[in-house]
Amino acid sequence: MKRALIYLDPDDSTASLELVEVIRQMYGEQAYQIVAVTVAAEAPQAIGAVDRLMLIAQEHVGRYDTQNIAAAIGELHRTQPFDAIVIAATTFGRMLAPRLAMRLHVGLVADVTEVRPEADRVQLVRPAFSGRMLAAIEQRGRVPVMASIRPGTFAAGSGVPRATDTEVFVPRSVGAPRVRLLSRTPKASTADIRASDVLVSGGGGVMRHFAKLDALAHELGGMVSASRHVVDRGKAPRDIQVGQSGKTVSPRLYLALGISGSIQHVVGIKTAEYVIAVNKDRRAPICALADIVVQGDAREFVDRIVAKIRGERTTAGEPQRAIDLLETDGGDR
Ligand code: FAD
Repeated sequence: MKRALIYLDPDDSTASLELVEVIRQMYGEQAYQIVAVTVAAEAPQAIGAVDRLMLIAQEHVGRYDTQNIAAAIGELHRTQPFDAIVIAATTFGRMLAPRLAMRLHVGLVADVTEVRPEADRVQLVRPAFSGRMLAAIEQRGRVPVMASIRPGTFAAGSGVPRATDTEVFVPRSVGAPRVRLLSRTPKASTADIRASDVLVSGGGGVMRHFAKLDALAHELGGMVSASRHVVDRGKAPRDIQVGQSGKTVSPRLYLALGISGSIQHVVGIKTAEYVIAVNKDRRAPICALADIVVQGDAREFVDRIVAKIRGERTTAGEPQRAIDLLETDGGDR
């Protein structure tokens, strides 16, 4: 029986549960057990998704204490070895995973976007050279196989329901907490763009009119996202950035307004179902991958399409409706 450990990041339960699907793809038909480890006081989202849930006793580790959390997981691995350890490549996961790999003296495949199971081993695929190449990496010899997984690339909530045993794990080899949380300021934006079926995404071409995108997103029942250009200029928060150093999204409809389509951006929308690009420049790279290209001014497009939707009393939240409207409104496929 294969044994896999997943780390549940208390700040991102969606990305954490995507790890269940990673393990399912790694082991397929083989028998396997999933042990979820976390520092949260409880993790109700894992109940029914994993076989064992181990809550690390909080007097030993703080929520952001990567060194002690790595030490605790290392101890767990020594006493009951795992074949695989996977961690979501969230901000926290990116700090924890390399520390743990060093402690276990194994390699780490970071930011994995695809799993390719072979007969008795597994290939982990990650973008390389700013997303221009995909590298398939195989870990031979030492176990555990260790990987951090790019959030948003695997489906959360898949897999068969499991009876979950919960226990508190008291690590013995861990010293006093090294990190003390002094205060906590919640982020202004709490909704996650990865959960939205419709994304109205703005780039350099709509930088000065970025606030206008809210109205269109509202009419379509979707959310606003952005390219890094807009985020770097402080016009949009970092947590709505799409792309290599932002989020990977899989909406039904991705509306790219004034976005050029750099390789670092499009790597984040590879699994979007339908892409509509509005750009002044027909030769912009985004136009080559879009299902519909509207050549023209994106600000004018937003004004016209919002007016049209409101005029037609469209039901909010229907991506197909937006596509229909565009197709009858001069979309240039
Ligand atoms: P621009 O390059 O400025 O393009 C603007 C586009 O809008 C152009 O195509 C133009 O023709 C069009 N336009 C201009 N005016 C109008 C108008 N009025 N109406 C319609 N169209 C108009 N980028 C990301 O987005 N996400 C990432 O995660 C990311 N990670 C990166 C990681 C690394 C290591 C590096 C090196 C770069 C990364 N980048 C990322 C940056 C990326 O390379 C590009 O610089 C960025 O995506 C460009 O953003 P943009 O297309 O919105 O802006």
